[in-house]
Amino acid sequence: MPAAATIAPDTLIDRLRGITGPRGLITDDGDMAPFLEDWRKLYRGRAIAVVRPQSTEEVAGVVRLCAEAGIAIVPQGGNTGLVGGAVPGLDGASILLQLGRMNRIRTLDTLDFSMVVEAGCVLETVQRAAADAGRKFPLSLGAEGTAQIGGLIATNAGGIHVMRYGMMRDLVLGLEVVLPDGSVLSELTTLRKNNVGYDLKQLFIGAEGTLGIVTAASLKLFPQLRASRTLFFALPSLADGPKLLSLCREFTGDAVESFELIPRQGIDFAIAHVAGVVDPLEGRPEWTVLTEISGRSDERLQEDLDRLVEEAFSAGLVTDGTIAQSEAQAKALWLLREAIVEGQRLAPGIQIKHDVSVQVSDVPAFVHAASEAIWRVHPDALINPFGHLGDGNIHFNVQLAAGASRDAVDGVSDITYRVVDQFSGSISAEHGIGRLKAASYAKRCPKPRAELIARLRKAVDPKGLMNPLVFRAGK
Ligand SMILES: Cc1cc2nc3c(=O)[nH]c(=O)nc-3n(C[C@H](O)[C@H](O)[C@H](O)COP(=O)(O)OP(=O)(O)OC[C@H]3O[C@@H](n4cnc5c(N)ncnc54)[C@H](O)[C@@H]3O)c2cc1C
Repeated sequence: MPAAATIAPDTLIDRLRGITGPRGLITDDGDMAPFLEDWRKLYRGRAIAVVRPQSTEEVAGVVRLCAEAGIAIVPQGGNTGLVGGAVPGLDGASILLQLGRMNRIRTLDTLDFSMVVEAGCVLETVQRAAADAGRKFPLSLGAEGTAQIGGLIATNAGGIHVMRYGMMRDLVLGLEVVLPDGSVLSELTTLRKNNVGYDLKQLFIGAEGTLGIVTAASLKLFPQLRASRTLFFALPSLADGPKLLSLCREFTGDAVESFELIPRQGIDFAIAHVAGVVDPLEGRPEWTVLTEISGRSDERLQEDLDRLVEEAFSAGLVTDGTIAQSEAQAKALWLLREAIVEGQRLAPGIQIKHDVSVQVSDVPAFVHAASEAIWRVHPDALINPFGHLGDGNIHFNVQLAAGASRDAVDGVSDITYRVVDQFSGSISAEHGIGRLKAASYAKRCPKPRAELIARLRKAVDPKGLMNPLVFRAGK
């Protein structure tokens, strides 16, 4: 827990205003409110102030002041995180450090395939800047119009292109970080090879703001794809999903950008509750996949896809399918994928989300075992296991009837996580631990790992001021 504050609130506010100027400080309760509730509305907190610095120097000044005064800091980017890590607790004893005004693209180098951006840049802006320069920044996820680079780094975000380009951890070349004492670690290198001992940037990626404030990052860019196709297949059974993925990889020279599992339950949620969503195939198949495959030229890609489709049908791995013939058709297929989240959120009942991973080849057995285990206790539960089959990351979401008790909800997560354990999987594939999963993770975190994390945290942040509630079970 953080050391007790040693500064009067008014003095703190005056000194913060001196660092950021009046536009960088919000203290009115009404104006602070939108920053103090998380995206899922599971957590609402209080803060002394929402501080919105505009430069690394201002962030360093704020952090130095807080270190001196014993004030805890909760960093926040786009506030789209799904594990409650970007919202302070109810004690009102911390500041919320909101990075959204640090939103400059500092450099973009097409020959080095790199760019340096500030933490508050929205992902979509970064993607667009790269595209305008004829390059691609491949990270892509449903919240890309709001999530910011600092938050994406702090959570090691994944998304739909992980199987081809990796997670955020794989896309960062260097970082600029304000450490808990207010000093600045400036390692914004764009070198591809830099083998000088510990790779310190990796400590901060996925640390969820517990070791410092990310203020800027150098990122990897990629060539833009000349040709790309979006395909939608119906599977005879879920067990055929990994086999079809393997075939897609083999027949296209490993050019699969994304491979998303879409169950019937997800399609039903989306169509019932989100305008403009259409069912792509007739016959209501139980299991479908949406895949995006790229290539160097339209002709080559079409040739590969013709062979792939022929083989997939003759091997009995698909029963039906469609290939988008235009950008509008591709968008409609992706709208269905993205609408699953909103569709389930708007459906009657209580939504219980799980972001888990197992080996790709284990996904069918995992989904079967976890579904059976839940149906044994809740025969009427609706189960919607969708998402990134290409990298074994399934959003195993469950809907219980309205009025289900807190114990019932927690029980569903316990059952799910116990089945994940049986498959040696992870209870957090891409969303992080935050506050939501702290207790569940503490139960299964191996002791040497837990001890090393605690020692590391103590060494870097001896006063315990950086996002103190994150990773801590029972608080
Ligand atoms: C519709 C929707 C779809 C999503 N899809 C995906 C998906 O496919 N894959 C995926 O991985 N995630 C997904 N997410 C989750 C979310 O978008 C990611 O976790 C994202 O990385 C959060 O970015 P943010 O800027 O909103 O961070 P925030 O929510 O503001 O913060 C997240 C964490 O990072 C810390 N933090 C924020 N900024 C900084 C900083 N500058 N320095 C240090 N720490 C910081 C916060 O304290 C917090 O712990 C989705 C969310 C939504 C709402």
